[in-house]
Amino acid sequence: TYVVTDNCIACKYTDCVEVCPVDCFYEGENMLVIHPDECIDCGVCEPECPADAIRPDTEPDMDEWVEFNRKYSEIW
Ligand code: SF4
Repeated sequence: TYVVTDNCIACKYTDCVEVCPVDCFYEGENMLVIHPDECIDCGVCEPECPADAIRPDTEPDMDEWVEFNRKYSEIW
């Protein structure tokens, strides 16, 4: 899965949301999040992000971000 990290805070771009084929972006408190179970790992959102905030969970130390993304995408 891909997840959104803190570089997203205060970013006003929503290019990522528009390209996602499964609509798995949600609004968190001050940043966007990706629902980790709905993301199909296509990767098309990553290059759209001008803040480099969207990362694959295969990078080191991403577990907390996966849980953060899950929490805020299930709040609504
Ligand atoms: Fe959506 Fe693909 Fe990005 Fe996952 S990797 S959030 S499915 S655009």
